[in-house]
Amino acid sequence: MTLIVQKYGGTSVGSVERIEAVADRVAKHHNAGEQLVVVVSAMSGETNRLLGLATSILDDPTPRELDIMMSTGEQVSMALLTMALHKRGVGAVSLNGSQVRILTDDSHTKARIKDIDSRRISSELESRHVVVVAGFQGVDEAGNVTTLGRGGSDTTAVALAAALKADECQIYTDVDGVYTTDPRVVDGAKRLEKITFEEMLEMASMGSKVLQLRSVEFAGKYNVPLRVLSSFDDGPGTLITMDEDNEMEAPQIAGIAFNRDEAKLTVVGVPDTPGMAYEILGPIGEANIEVDVILQNTGDCGKTDFTFTVARNDLAAAEKIVAAQTERLGAVEWSSDSHIAKVSVVGVGMRSHAGVAATMFRSLADVGVNILMISTSEIKISVIIYEKFLELAVRALHSGFGLDDEED
Ligand code: ASP
Ligand code: MG
Repeated sequence: MTLIVQKYGGTSVGSVERIEAVADRVAKHHNAGEQLVVVVSAMSGETNRLLGLATSILDDPTPRELDIMMSTGEQVSMALLTMALHKRGVGAVSLNGSQVRILTDDSHTKARIKDIDSRRISSELESRHVVVVAGFQGVDEAGNVTTLGRGGSDTTAVALAAALKADECQIYTDVDGVYTTDPRVVDGAKRLEKITFEEMLEMASMGSKVLQLRSVEFAGKYNVPLRVLSSFDDGPGTLITMDEDNEMEAPQIAGIAFNRDEAKLTVVGVPDTPGMAYEILGPIGEANIEVDVILQNTGDCGKTDFTFTVARNDLAAAEKIVAAQTERLGAVEWSSDSHIAKVSVVGVGMRSHAGVAATMFRSLADVGVNILMISTSEIKISVIIYEKFLELAVRALHSGFGLDDEED
């Protein structure tokens, strides 16, 4: 028998009408003979509303109390959906995290799942019940309610799918899949039929935020086929899997990702001696600032220019460190620029296709976009450019790699 885990996000259960629509969909799958575990988020806005209540009493509530409060949002959704299923004559039961026994560590508000007891769910499924589970929550060894971090219902769904060895984990949301790039930037952006876990991680980390990243990592680790689809219409969505097909036939790239949240810092005239990169980036790391692209080039005069990028809201802190180190190391000067952006082409097809970099640079040259920095990995090439050219660059790359939807 086919076992499917479905997850419905906040907008999909955002009102009584939406919950009734979800119940229709679940009932259809149930009546088609599937075994179903349905994970729900809190109704949209609810988790924030609860947090607002808490902080109106105390600026800094303890994480334990926050968890027990925030976990109620999902429990309302699970009970309402179960009632809506009963109304349709579908046998269904709701279970919260501790009733299932989704065992986590005790890091309140960002707990990690350690183990899932699948016995209760399995016996309900054997009785032909739909099992509706509250997302985002678990319980620690001592019986305290924990939550998994914002957006954590995706992770609940994937973890349940892994524990139950489900055939597929379907994430219902308000978009109908993963696109080749942001459709707000490129009209002809296409929904992907399929994408690999690796590609999805690279796309998601740079802006195509449909799924909580952690759930994609989890799904990749346990090889849970994951499908993103819309609860607002019917369609196949996008399947995220391990399967890379026949790599020879894979398209060169899956999509174009971009990120405006970048700033760069440059130290000019750093002495060309061992340890300088460490002198600059060591204190940056100690300040918990994540560095993205790094570029260093040694000239012939015994001096080096050193450039790196950080997230924009870390720029002020990074500038202080760079200013201090420029002075201490006897470098010539430093500068920074926050009007930059990163554009990346992503695809496992790069492993077997030569010339992806050439196509990328030609496409950018054709529209006169200047490249400030380049960085590469096995399945991704990124360039840092001026932010004002971002949309132009994304469009040029999208058509340069033949991704434009012909029908549009
Ligand atoms: N309700 C939680 C949140 O808003 C968890 C989730 O929706 O995935 O972050
Ligand atoms: Mg979400």
